[in-house]
Amino acid sequence: MTDYEHWMDAFDRAWHHPEMVDSIECPTCVTRALTLVYTVRSVGDREGMSAFWCHRCLRGLPPRIGELPKGFSGTLFEAAPIPNYNLIVPDSSSVSEPDGE
Ligand SMILES: [Zn+2]
Repeated sequence: MTDYEHWMDAFDRAWHHPEMVDSIECPTCVTRALTLVYTVRSVGDREGMSAFWCHRCLRGLPPRIGELPKGFSGTLFEAAPIPNYNLIVPDSSSVSEPDGE
C-alpha cells in the first residue's frame, strides 16, 4: 500500500469511530497523535470539510468535503485549530523521507 492508502485507511477508521481517533496510529510516524476535524459553515451542519492530520509529524490528508460522522460535531472554520500540515497526496512516494537521512 502507498502512504496515501494507509492514510485513507486511517481516515476511514477515524470516520467510523471518531471517538477512537486517539487510538489510531499515524501511518507515517506510528504515533497516536491523529486529529479529525470537520469545519462547517454553521453549527449543526451535517456536511463539512474534513481535516485529518498528525500532531507529531504534521502530515495529513488534503481537505475533503463530505458528510460528518454520526454524532460528530463540526467546528466553525474560524475556530478550527488546524495547523499548516504537509499533505499526503495519492502519488506521495516523493513525500517520504529522503534516502540516506
Ligand atoms: Zn505522524
